[in-house]
Amino acid sequence: MSDNIQSIRGMHDFAPQDTATLRLLESKLIAVLGQYGYHEVRTPIVEKLELFKRSIGAVTDIVEKEMYAFEDRGGDWLALRPEGTASTLRAGVQHGWLHNQQQRFWYLGPFFRRERPQKGRYRQFHQLGVETFGMAGPDIDLELILLSHAMWQAVGLNTDSLALQINTLGDTQARAEHRQQLISYLSDHHDKLDEDAQRRLHTNPLRILDSKNPEVQQLIKNAPLLFDYLDTEAKEHFERLLAMLAQVGIQVQHNPTLVRGLDYYNRTVFEWITTQLGAQGTICAGGRYDSLVGQMGGRDTPAAGFAIGIERLHSLVEQVLATQTPQLDGYVVVLGDVATEYAVAVCQQIRSSCPHLAIQMNCGGGSIKSQMKRADRAQARLAIIIGDDEVNKRQVTIKHLQADTPQIVCDVEQVTEHL
Ligand code: ATP
Ligand code: MG
Repeated sequence: MSDNIQSIRGMHDFAPQDTATLRLLESKLIAVLGQYGYHEVRTPIVEKLELFKRSIGAVTDIVEKEMYAFEDRGGDWLALRPEGTASTLRAGVQHGWLHNQQQRFWYLGPFFRRERPQKGRYRQFHQLGVETFGMAGPDIDLELILLSHAMWQAVGLNTDSLALQINTLGDTQARAEHRQQLISYLSDHHDKLDEDAQRRLHTNPLRILDSKNPEVQQLIKNAPLLFDYLDTEAKEHFERLLAMLAQVGIQVQHNPTLVRGLDYYNRTVFEWITTQLGAQGTICAGGRYDSLVGQMGGRDTPAAGFAIGIERLHSLVEQVLATQTPQLDGYVVVLGDVATEYAVAVCQQIRSSCPHLAIQMNCGGGSIKSQMKRADRAQARLAIIIGDDEVNKRQVTIKHLQADTPQIVCDVEQVTEHL
């Protein structure tokens, strides 16, 4: 066998320069979650297949086409998680975190969907998700939007190219009435529906509104709007949210055909969409799912959340973040065996008295020229040079690598002052 084994299509390695900006991005996002008092939950990457079938909905892209599902050696049907809401909720019900309580959770990690790989769409991708439980009003919807907005600011995202689209999907009664009208409208144009839409016409017609097919989208423009079927309570919820958003100065676009790719949403749904990523422009999507906890065997608990596509957000801000990633402060150039022991001691002294500095010691020998080259390649701010002379005089030589400053020689006791 001569071929090298490659990674799976749509599943990617992150190179060191990418993980640096990725980690910075994640830490900034997590800091905002801390400011809002949210707590992290970690759930397994593998769950029972049934969990996703029951929560996401059997007639959805994810469950029908995209899930990595498999039978394990014990004959159990399992799946790699395609999203985070179902698992968070499963854990909440299982451990009694939700009943009679309010919770604000977040999670971050890999998710898996067997989609057609393209820019911004991968088979293993990462989401930072937020799920809240026990709060029914539009105030928590507002908080979620404010939280996401604070995140864009924290990571230096240019919000000019970002739009917040919002809609309400109403409640069960309105959905049922609208569904009848929608089926009847779409049936009248049966020949214009693609295969997917025809199949979903009677099982999940609302999903057709989410179609990416331009011809179907054209048809949808004149379809009956769910908005016209809302009851007073759902309408008031939505109007109150819009009023509060206006009050805090967040601009929104009401998009009456916005639905989500998963079945469990009701009332408020929203997406943050950028014009900079082409077709894969949604960087964050969320909404309410008030009936899901009950449907999954818990006691009825109102809930709302959102998820951010980390790869898409990262691609928007990586250049800004690249200028902020931590750099190497000092590269210790070591000339000769005697110098090695002395250099190790100097490194340890710096690391213990200045724990915020990043110091790397040359290993594997080499001429002064090749060691200085390594210091440059490591993008170190300073070279700390230690040879026989320095050892004998208990000194070090410090040379600036990124500034035109004369090199200095100082006593080893003073070295931290010069860093
Ligand atoms: P889309 O309409 O783009 O397929 P979705 O409705 O399937 O999105 P959600 O399940 O709501 O997406 O996931 C939330 C976010 O996670 C998306 O807005 C997107 O930023 C990101 N995301 C979803 N699927 C992928 C993927 N395959 N690769 C990369 N990011 C993804
Ligand atoms: Mg999708």
